[in-house]
Amino acid sequence: MTRNGGACARVKVLLGVYVLGGLRGTREARVRAHLERCIPCQAEYDELAEIIPFLDMITGAEAAQDAPGPAGSGDDASPSPGPSHGDDYVDADDD
Ligand SMILES: [Zn+2]
Repeated sequence: MTRNGGACARVKVLLGVYVLGGLRGTREARVRAHLERCIPCQAEYDELAEIIPFLDMITGAEAAQDAPGPAGSGDDASPSPGPSHGDDYVDADDD
């Protein structure tokens, strides 16, 4: 019982990576073999697998919002040159 519980705990740690397809080789094979025999871990895998597409949607939307779009290039179109700003400063000092 205790040994089986330990295996489940180890699989659950790897399950998130496994669902995302991030596991390779022996680890991936071990998780898959465990899932075939273990109903509770299968259930957990199913839950994670259902959530993943939503996570992709959320991160995708956030990335689109954060990405600098036309607004960034608009700023570049009307730049305020450094030297002119320096002249202004000197003029004010002269007065
Ligand atoms: Zn298990």
